[in-house]
Amino acid sequence: MGNLQAESGLRPNNLENKYADASGWTDEGYTAAVDNGAYTREMFQDGWGYGLAQWSYWSRKRDLYDYAKKRGTSIADLDMQLEYLWAELGQYQSVLNTLLNARSVREASDAVLLDFEKPANRSEENCAARAKLGQKFFDEFAGDPPEAAPGSAEGRPPFPTKTTGRVLTVYRRFFYDSDCYKQGTRQTPSGVQVHSTGANNPWLRRYVQPDDGRIGKNVNGNDHNRPGGNVCAGAYIGKQSDGTVAVYESLPWDMRCWLSGSGDNGNANRLGYVGFEICEDALTDRAYFDAAMDQAVLLTAYLCREYGIGMDAVRDHAELHEMGLASNHGDITHWLGKFGLTMAWFRDRVQRTMEEGITVEYVDCDEATVLYQARVTGGGRLNIRSGPGTRYSSIGQAADGSVLDVLEETNADWARVRQGDLVGYSMRMYLEKVEPEDPAEPEIPEDPETDLPPVDAVKLTLKLPADALRRALETGNLVIDCRSGSVANIDYL
Ligand SMILES: [Zn+2]
Repeated sequence: MGNLQAESGLRPNNLENKYADASGWTDEGYTAAVDNGAYTREMFQDGWGYGLAQWSYWSRKRDLYDYAKKRGTSIADLDMQLEYLWAELGQYQSVLNTLLNARSVREASDAVLLDFEKPANRSEENCAARAKLGQKFFDEFAGDPPEAAPGSAEGRPPFPTKTTGRVLTVYRRFFYDSDCYKQGTRQTPSGVQVHSTGANNPWLRRYVQPDDGRIGKNVNGNDHNRPGGNVCAGAYIGKQSDGTVAVYESLPWDMRCWLSGSGDNGNANRLGYVGFEICEDALTDRAYFDAAMDQAVLLTAYLCREYGIGMDAVRDHAELHEMGLASNHGDITHWLGKFGLTMAWFRDRVQRTMEEGITVEYVDCDEATVLYQARVTGGGRLNIRSGPGTRYSSIGQAADGSVLDVLEETNADWARVRQGDLVGYSMRMYLEKVEPEDPAEPEIPEDPETDLPPVDAVKLTLKLPADALRRALETGNLVIDCRSGSVANIDYL
């Protein structure tokens, strides 16, 4: 907050003052010109600082522009800029980690200033001044020092230790091979769309692949994680091989799913409805119904809490069709009806689950082996594409200096890489292998009596009758005495 204050005075339409003065643009005039297109996307990459964080670097500024246009907001929209800032921070994992775990305002402030903004002035005075601004926000908004925090020596608020409510386990198995994932449209979740598959097959392996050792293999090759499919949910709920009902996350929650189809008034996918499928069975087994709905309720409650989604934006396919936002299907209302229930019942349970609280545990099912890690070089943001070539669309970007997992050296020019929840292809010429640090030298305890210099390695061959050795180890009668100079005495008692 201190850094944003210093950069822009917390005014999202702020044009960097020296350029405003030199060019004659006012904040309002410049903003309006960018919004109405008189000042074009290319001109907007003018290098002049703009907005909350005074974005000036050409690619970050271009991305801000695209982000605003995609959302249909003004370039000066506060919420849009905050969301963009948050998305950018996701590309700076180490800065984000510091922010989430910082023990002082200064620590957090320095991380943002030195590793995120990276200004020319990196002096101690500047760092201290920024942190001082941040401290004011902390003092005003972070509340009183915790009274009930014995043991927190630095006055840091304690983490809540009481886990409330239910535990939701989410198995994460992103559909990297689906066209939907490769298109990779990111959007802010604004609702939850609940579907069921309409086919009698409660097994997750029908839709989710490859096998993680829990769901089993789909031998028919008709799962949803493959090219050419036109349906892709954000998650699937069904049975693992042993009959356990589980949730599998197949797309990052903020990635647009392909699920609703369109209605007369629009398309729920495009409006930001996060969607999941519940695998149907023959619709007569109450125990499976209860278990599947229980997971669906937990997942919906989690998404609503996470993204601030209200109950009126929790809709099933049938309701979305009524609203003109989806194709004509009856799920999941037809299934609920078999047991005399409605979506109102579903929403009521979601509401109550939110009040009781939810803890989420993720299980990563992606066993992709990491060949090595590599640092992004070249001074700009590196595209992560849906395939190994510039003709493939960009599904994300990695910041200069950030570190990626290299999963595969696809060919001389391209590598398959992973950053956070993104997997795709990047050009190898901009990747510099990070050599793993040498493992720490094992500590050799000093010998107080002889003070011998440490030896690099000792190879010792014991030639004892096998049963004598076994007895010696069992009875503990093997004594090794290394303290008599350069010779070790080994006694078998
Ligand atoms: Zn549906």
